[in-house]
Amino acid sequence: LLVDFVLARADELGDKPALVDGPSGRTLTYGALLAAVRSLAGGLVARGFEPGQTLAVLAPNLPEYAVVFHGVAYAGGVVTTINPTYTAHEIHHQLVDADARLLVTVAPFLEAARTAAEGTSVEEIFVIGEADGATPLTALMGEPLADQVPRDVHATVALPYSSGTTGVSKGVMLSHRNLVANVAQVLGPADLREDETLIAVLPFFHIYGMQVLMNCGLRTGATIVTMPRFDLEQFLSIHQEYGVTRSFVAPPIVVAMAKHPLVDSYDLSKLEQVFSGAAPLSAELALEAGKRLGCEVVQGYGMTEMSPVSHLTPVGQFKPGSVGVTAPNTEMRIVDPLSGEDLGLDADGEIWVRGPQVMLGYLNNAQATASTLDADGWLHTGDIGHVDEDGHVFVVDRLKELIKYKGFQVPPAELEAVLLTHPDVADAAVVGLPDEEAGEIPVAYVVRRAGSEATAEQIMEFVAGQVAHYKQVRRLEFIDAVPKSASGKILRRELRARAAG
Ligand code: ATP
Ligand code: MG
Repeated sequence: LLVDFVLARADELGDKPALVDGPSGRTLTYGALLAAVRSLAGGLVARGFEPGQTLAVLAPNLPEYAVVFHGVAYAGGVVTTINPTYTAHEIHHQLVDADARLLVTVAPFLEAARTAAEGTSVEEIFVIGEADGATPLTALMGEPLADQVPRDVHATVALPYSSGTTGVSKGVMLSHRNLVANVAQVLGPADLREDETLIAVLPFFHIYGMQVLMNCGLRTGATIVTMPRFDLEQFLSIHQEYGVTRSFVAPPIVVAMAKHPLVDSYDLSKLEQVFSGAAPLSAELALEAGKRLGCEVVQGYGMTEMSPVSHLTPVGQFKPGSVGVTAPNTEMRIVDPLSGEDLGLDADGEIWVRGPQVMLGYLNNAQATASTLDADGWLHTGDIGHVDEDGHVFVVDRLKELIKYKGFQVPPAELEAVLLTHPDVADAAVVGLPDEEAGEIPVAYVVRRAGSEATAEQIMEFVAGQVAHYKQVRRLEFIDAVPKSASGKILRRELRARAAG
């Protein structure tokens, strides 16, 4: 079961820091983490929290996040993790959908949590730390539970929600076996070591931070430095102060690391690798950032439905633009989305994945489950990509996002990558907008580098010089910032809505 696997060495590691709150330096050792997990589980059981019941967490990254997550798992429960940038309305929706009994939050979110919990099955709200008129999490702690409450390995333990990039977020049921399998699948190729220091700026509520940072880090016995929110200056100073060896990030942070002037003022010499996932990262950008940082910027690929990793770059096998190779004990097919036929090397098709990390299904959504997970256990990812002769996979874009220009298909991610190579472009996003003549046209939204006077025509010409005629950007607008989700994805639907007025 999950906790026994992830915290297997906690006793032995004792006083070693497991999690450190970056800004304050507040430390939770492995020994203290395990003790707190057992005592939270004891308190939950004593309170009548039953196996299979759900507790929701609405909190930024903090050391206590791991206590709550694993305490609930140890008590046989299900943890549903909520995006702290959600509105009370969105939180309410998740609490209802997940049928949460208890809710753990922090003082700044207490008001939203209370509003959201009205009319749901939430019986009580607890806060990490203190807040006036609220029950502290410590009140939930009880007699330590020596052994984990027995559960089937196929029972759901985590209920994260997909990012909602393409529509409404879906609750993804992940079992003990799913999570344990994926931690093991990542740790082999990634070769994380006990003497490493990781930075957890990616949110724990999202599957990437939850598994690749929190659970892989704890299983290895590494030290995880948490950051409650992204701030470039603080992010860099934490690297320097704590000697971060591996930085798990999403592409917007790689863009900052490649292009922002602040980066040169910090000593990042301990950094051995930057690992990017969650959204497309071009070869150019990976190389540019890597050159500046003096280490490789490698990728992994995954989705909430795969706990999350199906592909990652093994240490020593960096290939620019690739998301890596298929994880151990995982099968992949590249399938023609129209005919359902398997495609050969280098041909783009839909990526299908099968393995022990593939979800049980979506919560309360049999229809979405049936259209994603087929009868033979293949997960249809909805992403387009190809595999080369070395087994390296290249993700092109999402099937749904391909722009259909006069019968041709244009991946917005490719145009974004080209735009980002322009010296005056600080950030960019491309969407397909309806067009009477062409069906859809690629429209670019560009954030200019401060002080730049480049015109839309100049930048469009720059792109036109590098891509096939049908892929040209047909319109370009300047914006202040590209809308992105908390997990680092471009919110193209917001740009489309903006264009529609
Ligand atoms: P929703 O499913 O709710 O619309 P989402 O798909 O963004 O949201 P996640 O599960 O967080 O939710 O993200 C998985 C998706 O992220 C993948 O399907 C893929 O499109 C994208 N992705 C992840 N890693 C990479 C990568 N290295 N390169 C390109 N795309 C990636
Ligand atoms: Mg998805």
